[in-house]
Amino acid sequence: MTRIVYVNGRYLPYAKAAVHVEDRGFQFADAVYEVCEVRGGYLVDEPRHMARLARSLAALEIDAPMSAPALAHVMRETIRRNRVRDGLVYLQVTRGEGPREFAFPAAGVPRTVVCLARPLDFGAQDALALTGIAVKSMPDIRWRRSEIKTVMLLPACLAKQAARAEGAREAWFVDDDGFVTEGASSNAWIVTGERVVITRQIAPIILAGVTRATLIDVLREEQMTFVERPFRLEEALQAREAFITSATNTVMPVVRIDGRIIGDGKPGHVTRRLRSKFHQFADISGA
Ligand code: PLP
Repeated sequence: MTRIVYVNGRYLPYAKAAVHVEDRGFQFADAVYEVCEVRGGYLVDEPRHMARLARSLAALEIDAPMSAPALAHVMRETIRRNRVRDGLVYLQVTRGEGPREFAFPAAGVPRTVVCLARPLDFGAQDALALTGIAVKSMPDIRWRRSEIKTVMLLPACLAKQAARAEGAREAWFVDDDGFVTEGASSNAWIVTGERVVITRQIAPIILAGVTRATLIDVLREEQMTFVERPFRLEEALQAREAFITSATNTVMPVVRIDGRIIGDGKPGHVTRRLRSKFHQFADISGA
């Protein structure tokens, strides 16, 4: 089956899907994006993803290319045309194309909109969650506006590559004061010996993860003890459990940080419970 990609109003075969060389997304990373999980053909947590997309666009003063329902329709149609049941959908909006000038182009330049969908093997993810993943820490060299989901992802690419070189699947960024900010493409969590679940509070230096928000709903409903505060790498190394959250991983146990074993080296009870509960609380109302 040919993959189909949405580009500026057209559904094109993968090989024909392209944007202009002077698109500002390509030239300046002047673009924002969303990645949503697709489960059983449904978009997971669509309202939260669309709300964050609107916030990212507003923060960069990029007018929305179309209404939120129209964008959601594009995502659904891309999922449908690619027959994705379990996987992800990726939506990118750039400021559009124009001669390479740093300052914004004149008003009225059409935004570039691209949407892709592809299947993921959630069975393999479940298998991975049985053993957990390793993460590697590294200095957070990103800009101070990580709350905006831009395509300016080079620090994340470098971090993931360095992690992979050491057999780790994710990198955890650490700020200048020694506190973990978040993962390269996930939010970072620990569970203390007293079973208190901790993640850093929302601030401009981290992305407000949609999975993070939904997991907080789970924690509240399940009446689990939970605190939003910064934690140091040393505290994470002493934690009983650790995990990451992201749309495509939901809740993924972390069993090693910088080669050191966390807890007993196996996915912990709290993490497993949160992973198993997640989809009961995630929103599929737009289905
Ligand atoms: N933090 C960063 C830097 C990310 O790139 C991502 C996802 O890509 C997340 C956190 C998790 O966000 P979400 O749960 O919305 O996927």
